[in-house]
Amino acid sequence: MKAIRVKQFGGPEVMHLEDVPDLKPGPAQVVVRIHAAGVNPVESYIRAGTYGRLPNLPYTPGTDGAGTIEAVGQGVTRFRAGDRVYTAGSLSGTYAQQALCEEWAVFPLPAHVSFAQGAAIHIPYATAYRALFHRAQARPGEMVLINGASGGVGIAAVQIGRAAGLHIVGTAGSDRGKKLVAAEGAHEVLDHKAPDHFEKALALTSGRGYDVIVEMLSNVNLGNDLKILATGGRVAVVGSRGNVEINPRDMMGRDASIVAMSLWNASQKDLMSIHAALVAGLENKSLRPVIGQEIPLAEAPRAHTAVMEAGAYGKIVLVP
Ligand code: NAP
Repeated sequence: MKAIRVKQFGGPEVMHLEDVPDLKPGPAQVVVRIHAAGVNPVESYIRAGTYGRLPNLPYTPGTDGAGTIEAVGQGVTRFRAGDRVYTAGSLSGTYAQQALCEEWAVFPLPAHVSFAQGAAIHIPYATAYRALFHRAQARPGEMVLINGASGGVGIAAVQIGRAAGLHIVGTAGSDRGKKLVAAEGAHEVLDHKAPDHFEKALALTSGRGYDVIVEMLSNVNLGNDLKILATGGRVAVVGSRGNVEINPRDMMGRDASIVAMSLWNASQKDLMSIHAALVAGLENKSLRPVIGQEIPLAEAPRAHTAVMEAGAYGKIVLVP
């Protein structure tokens, strides 16, 4: 089979498509024939060698994928060859024609959800769910600002939050992105590039402030987020690409909290619970992954350049 291999950390050009041996499942493992693989910003940080958790070289990137079960190992009971599935983690990497996965980390893909959409579920939707409910403890009726709602995690947070009865304000940096955020369920949409973005966001709460802010670019926004929280408000730090200055008094006066998260810290039990909720949302069509670009697997370097560019529009997926 063919797989992207990374032999040294570096720019997008270190990813090459190569022939590698077919995979065989061990006990409690399955091999998935990958029809689409999700591209997430974290895979570019890992490839660059700048991330806190790095794999041994050489490696195949990717945790998110969708396809059909090709082979099951001893003791596997949930799946049979041919079943449509998506992956929530992979032992071998999903930027490939086959991926080896633990049985528990594979979930059924409803018939109406495409493989490209299936590849867009795990990191974005599980992160959005964990940020909203496990970390920020969002409750129906609360005012929620999704700062950076046009990308993978943002669209997921808009759809999940809207279905759960949260009042969602979402932001994007392009007109196309703003239209998408509105179409996917945000009650109001703002431009995070506008100089009066925070004033407008506060005005939408009639000055009361937000119960929850899900923040995709904390190094730019965290200091201002703290000024537009309601009493008892929580900022869920999901993304950050640098340092930021905050004034603790903005938190003290509001009994506010900053809760940060990494999806890597979620336990198997938490992930299985989160994916049970996500599968239910896919089945009832409240969750509808949006695919912005499908790029051939051999052009993975182009996908890593694109995922770091402004003007997000849903997800980028690789097609073997
Ligand atoms: P993505 O699809 O590339 O989307 C990036 C988002 O950030 C877009 O909505 C983009 O909007 C927005 N953005 C750009 N400038 C912004 C600004 N000034 N203020 C607010 N938002 C801004 O990436 P993603 O997959 O959604 O991930 C988002 C971030 O979360 C990344 O940094 C990623 O590494 C991180 N992340 C963390 C975890 C975790 O476990 N903590 C998990 C997944 C992702 P426009 O392009 O429309 O301007």
